[in-house]
Amino acid sequence: MLFLLLISQKYFGYSHFRPYQKEVIEKVLQGRDCLVVMATGSGKSLCYQIPPLISKKTAVVVSPLLSLMQDQVMSLQQRGIKAEYLSSTQSNKSVSCNAEKGFYDILYMTPEKACSLSESFWTNLLEAGICLLAVDEAHCISEWGHDFRKEYKQLHLLHDILSNVPFVALTATVTEKVRNDIVCSLKLREPQITIGSFDRTNLFYGVKSSNRFVSFLDELITDVLKYTVNAGSTIIYCTTIKDTEQIHEFLRNTGIEAGIYHGQMGSKAREESHRSFIRDETHVMVATIAFGVGIDKPDVRCVIHFGCPKSFESYYQESGRCGRDGLPSICWLYFFRGDFLRADFYCLEAQCGNQRKAVESFMVAQKYCALGTCRRNFLLEYFGEKSASACGNCDNCTRPKRERDLSRESFLLLSCIKLCGGNFGFNMPIDVLRGSRAKKIKINKFDKLPMHGLGKDNSSNWWKALGGLLLANGMMLTDVLYCIIFFSVSPDGVQFLCTSNTAQQKPLMLAMTTEMIE
Ligand code: ADP
Ligand code: ZN
Repeated sequence: MLFLLLISQKYFGYSHFRPYQKEVIEKVLQGRDCLVVMATGSGKSLCYQIPPLISKKTAVVVSPLLSLMQDQVMSLQQRGIKAEYLSSTQSNKSVSCNAEKGFYDILYMTPEKACSLSESFWTNLLEAGICLLAVDEAHCISEWGHDFRKEYKQLHLLHDILSNVPFVALTATVTEKVRNDIVCSLKLREPQITIGSFDRTNLFYGVKSSNRFVSFLDELITDVLKYTVNAGSTIIYCTTIKDTEQIHEFLRNTGIEAGIYHGQMGSKAREESHRSFIRDETHVMVATIAFGVGIDKPDVRCVIHFGCPKSFESYYQESGRCGRDGLPSICWLYFFRGDFLRADFYCLEAQCGNQRKAVESFMVAQKYCALGTCRRNFLLEYFGEKSASACGNCDNCTRPKRERDLSRESFLLLSCIKLCGGNFGFNMPIDVLRGSRAKKIKINKFDKLPMHGLGKDNSSNWWKALGGLLLANGMMLTDVLYCIIFFSVSPDGVQFLCTSNTAQQKPLMLAMTTEMIE
């Protein structure tokens, strides 16, 4: 143990290990296959960087992005570690000759390269000594992940040649499906599975909501300026390429130097953009989720999601790209109220086969937006971690508590949804409560319902926010059919309605969201 720490201190200057690093390193040194699932920024790289320095054998690291490898190689070389990379586009004879002789501590390569190297290369290297084969960003192996790379599917073939070499798969992707895919596809042999905590205590989580796109622009400038002072960086994730371009142009017009990154740009332009961000030539990046894999920048101070992300897993991963150095950083989600409880715009784009699953994950992201209680607790519970008391480091924890007995309002909304019959979107019960006499209401005779007009003292945004709270509290259910979300009252909600106005009824205390207070 002491020896491991000495090496870590000597080359990296770390005086202690972070959680799980030592355990994984020890298992790898024992020759065990490992699957390491740990949050972005938790220090996964060290798990494959230390073993070669201990065993004096080469670590082969498969990594999906050229620019990422170049940066890692550069930083390792600066620490006096013999590191190089091989890729299909840059064929470098002397590197592969040296590599074969076991000259390097750490040898990075793209998956394409790993699959195309000759058998004699591998046997030579094996003879010289390989201590591990690491597959970084291992979720790229899964078609369920959003960064699927088909070459990753071939990597298991290397077991045939490297029969006793431990394989180490690393990812920050949390879903069980992806984890299982990795183990199966890489054919890991009784792997040691290490799943770290998903709690990134240095990150502040918050949501800002607004009715319209434009009203967020001032907010955006303020945030960008605030978090990029002292040379910190900000990433702004947009939901569409069009938004990405508009926001990028908007920032540039206001004199803020910003980079752009999305899937329709050529690969050269993308790499250029990525590189100038990593190297601090631009401090702001406006991007779609295509800007993803391996953004190893320690000092991103803020990640802003401009619009509700399409899945909660990807939200966690994208927002986790800030604060990798452990310093306080901020994750803002800008939420358009108009998107609340809508799935249509998502369904049109969904290419994923399992639309229902995709919409479910989107609904979780929407519940997160609608929450009046601790956001971190919600996040940790979603990922299956027990959370203690409120975190004190999210917008809902830090603003003054506004709990109120919302029994009456909840009763009105739930009973109205029930009486409307569940064949309508969310606007119908709200319009009924607010006393609308629109045609759609009269045709359905909803103006004759007992609660018609009883909720006119609150705005429709207020009612939507209450809907979000009831959804997050499990009083309402959603279902999706042909891209329309239908609402119903859940068994808990029915229970609440049945006991209402009886002696058993406890007041329904709910923490109000900011839009309910405004
Ligand atoms: P991951 O691959 O899990 O996203 P990295 O391996 O890139 O994370 O590490 C994230 C940051 O944490 C890096 O800046 C790295 O230098 C730092 N780091 C890793 N391990 C330690 C440690 N034991 N002590 C201090 N800093 C560490
Ligand atoms: Zn909190």
